[in-house]
Amino acid sequence: MGRRSGKFRRVLSRIFKERQIYHRSDGVVHFISMSSKTQIALAVIVGAALLWVAYSSVNVVFKEQIIVAKERDSRIMETTYSKRLHDAQRAYDDVSELNQIIKQNFDETMADISARHQLLQNMVERKATIDQGLDALATGLAEAGGPSGQRTSNSNRVMVDVVPGEATPRQSRLSTARKQAVEQMERNNAAAPQNGAASDAIKSMNKAAADLYTEQMLLLASLEEKAEAQRDHLTNVMASAGISVESVVTPAKITNTVLAQGGPFIDIAAGDEAASQFYLHVSRAANAVDELAALQKAIQNLPLSSPLIVGRRFTSGFGIRRDPINGKYSRHNGIDFAAAWASPITATGDGVVKYAGTRAGFGRMVEINHGNGFITRYAHMNRITVKTGQKVKLHDKIGELGNSGRSTGPHVHYEILFNGKPLNPRRFIEAGRYVFES
Ligand SMILES: [Zn+2]
Repeated sequence: MGRRSGKFRRVLSRIFKERQIYHRSDGVVHFISMSSKTQIALAVIVGAALLWVAYSSVNVVFKEQIIVAKERDSRIMETTYSKRLHDAQRAYDDVSELNQIIKQNFDETMADISARHQLLQNMVERKATIDQGLDALATGLAEAGGPSGQRTSNSNRVMVDVVPGEATPRQSRLSTARKQAVEQMERNNAAAPQNGAASDAIKSMNKAAADLYTEQMLLLASLEEKAEAQRDHLTNVMASAGISVESVVTPAKITNTVLAQGGPFIDIAAGDEAASQFYLHVSRAANAVDELAALQKAIQNLPLSSPLIVGRRFTSGFGIRRDPINGKYSRHNGIDFAAAWASPITATGDGVVKYAGTRAGFGRMVEINHGNGFITRYAHMNRITVKTGQKVKLHDKIGELGNSGRSTGPHVHYEILFNGKPLNPRRFIEAGRYVFES
């Protein structure tokens, strides 16, 4: 170390050896002696100044570069920012457009489901009204029982059960409905935007709609099935009374209340198999319900009961028989029941009293008009308890059993006239059992 510093000192003293600088002015010579130390000190000062100048120059150049770089950076940032803002705006526009699409899809689906629901509700309500009417009639008729007063019997079951089988059993129809609803859902899904969020929302809505459509089809199928079975059953009731449905229920009497209730116009898209199937079944079910309503109304007024509710004996049938008074063969236009003196005689169906008074041969007699061309007659009464023009309901008391007119003992002679022609009342009372035994 000491040797090296010694060498450095020798190099320095060789460069900065003591120098005399001569200077002449006005003929006088001066000289300045500069020691090594003075020379080194000067050299250090000059060197430091040069370094300062160099540093400052570099710094200025760098600063400018930094500013340029910063400007470039902020321009890049600005561009990036405005691009992001633009992207966000576009994303927002996309979302609100998708919302619009989702909302439109939802509104259309809801409108469709509501329209279907309204139709089903109309039918269900109308059917419920019919059922209430039939239940009340069945309860009333059950009170009087069959021709000999029997309340229940299995003898008519076979006929009641002979209801034409449905062409398409419910189970297969349900699976068809489900299949069609799923197909419709897939078509709707395909028509929906295929973009992530919107697609998911619409698809889950379409799935819920498909489930509802299937439920509605099931309800419709069950409604149609029941209405058709009841319509067939009531047709059988009328047939068993010897009446053709066509003679009582004319097309004019069938009111299309379900489909004519001013529901919304339903525009079924071409190829929408599920929708056209739904409305096909709606129209079938509606027809069945409309016909059922007309039949129920007709049956409601039919004289399907017996003029004596309790303690009666069937004593004489309808048709050719030997006359109990003169012994000659003659036509008996009604049936006879015997019971205790003054037993209550009641209306065999709803109607209006057409006649209440005495008539040759019949004694004290009441005639009731049931509409649709049906009139019932109750003869040989002891006392009449209604007046002409009075409205009567099934099993309302109209008089008391007696022996007036051409009669050999206390009994009621009971007739049913259809458009003036006598029919066998026994068949009507039998038919009444089909109503309450079903
Ligand atoms: Zn008679």
